[in-house]
Amino acid sequence: MSLPKINLVVIGHKDHGKSTLIGRLLYDSNVIPEQKIQEIEEESKRLGKKGFKFHFLLDSLEEEREGGLTIDIMQTPFKTKKYLYTIIDCPGHKEFVKNMITGASQADAAILVVSAKEGIQDQTKHHAFLTKILGINQLVVAVNKMDKVSYNEERFKEVSEKLNKVFISLGYEKVPIIPVSALNGDNVLKRSKKFQWYDGQTLFETLDKTISPSTLPISKPLRACVQDVYQLKGEKIVVCKIETGILESGRRVIFEPSGEKGLVKKIEMFGKEIRQAKPGDSVGLIISGIKGVNRGDVVSYPENPAKLFRSFIAEIILFSDAKMRNNDVRTIRYGTAENKCKVLKILEKIDPINLTSQEKFPDVLQDGDVGKVMFSAIKPICLEKYSEIPQLGRFVIEGKRGATAAGIVLEVK
Ligand code: GDP
Repeated sequence: MSLPKINLVVIGHKDHGKSTLIGRLLYDSNVIPEQKIQEIEEESKRLGKKGFKFHFLLDSLEEEREGGLTIDIMQTPFKTKKYLYTIIDCPGHKEFVKNMITGASQADAAILVVSAKEGIQDQTKHHAFLTKILGINQLVVAVNKMDKVSYNEERFKEVSEKLNKVFISLGYEKVPIIPVSALNGDNVLKRSKKFQWYDGQTLFETLDKTISPSTLPISKPLRACVQDVYQLKGEKIVVCKIETGILESGRRVIFEPSGEKGLVKKIEMFGKEIRQAKPGDSVGLIISGIKGVNRGDVVSYPENPAKLFRSFIAEIILFSDAKMRNNDVRTIRYGTAENKCKVLKILEKIDPINLTSQEKFPDVLQDGDVGKVMFSAIKPICLEKYSEIPQLGRFVIEGKRGATAAGIVLEVK
């Protein structure tokens, strides 16, 4: 019997133990081949590290994600009694923000790692804020490094109380908080006797109990992103990825912003003809009646078409030293599309902790700032409101050296 799948994102301030926790999870659930473990142990010894260092495991498992953005990501699925979990690890803060907003990986739930020793830090709050605005409502906290505070109950309570205040301000309800030591493996997958005072569940028993898998967005209107268009044996093949809804053969579709219309004659996936494609599927289409379809086009049905517009309001977060000012022109990327947009007006700077307005109409937004901004696209685009179709409601802003900011669309005009 196959278990339902859960995608987990592990978030938290740098050095609070995210990699160690993931390494521990994979190690304790025996999904790492013996040979790989030996290699890592040898490497670890060679570098003069004592014992098994879990973050080496992580470094060696990292793989590059394909696609427009290079995102380091590590994905090794592991099982509990209830679910097949896949961890979406983002090694750094920037990668995390990028990854979350581009939706390179859809997270069903998040584990927030907070060090018991250091307590809540800037990125702790920032990440909790981001998961919230991105609509990840399933959150579990691991208060890590409990070994460093002698497994002390008072310290755990102190950190938990502060965390609860942050969650309440963000609108999270009843977030489970579990004391763990990722390094020693206490309370991660295995129960530990070191917490005499704790009779609750382990981190993963808690996840199993509180989390539910997300469902495919099949009841939403059809949206698919054109990835590529090529000729094969005299026929034009349109390769696209379904984001929402169901694509069926025999139906008329439109492509925006190209403005082309056509009939789906055939849908192919992995070389086989299929009648329907669902969200997540990448398919090749043969469409009659089209000429100039392009990468970046959005496919929809005429009954509920993707709309073209120019101006939109977005909530954005900056994560590089490239500042943003009114009238700046920036390249934004969403789905497989790329467009130039002008910063019409920075409407406000938002405090990411309390979600309140910090400053109205600031002149500039800089690294780490969250702001509400009105953009105007140079050519019409078909983004969506994030609350309706998140898959096409988020974007990144490209700079000279990669993504510099990311945003979600609040309103379109
Ligand atoms: P990340 O930046 O959040 O991924 O943090 P890492 O997993 O790289 O851990 C940062 C440092 O904290 C490393 O030196 C880890 O060995 C150490 N660390 C992580 N978890 C624990 C823990 O449970 N106990 C102790 N004592 N150290 C830990």
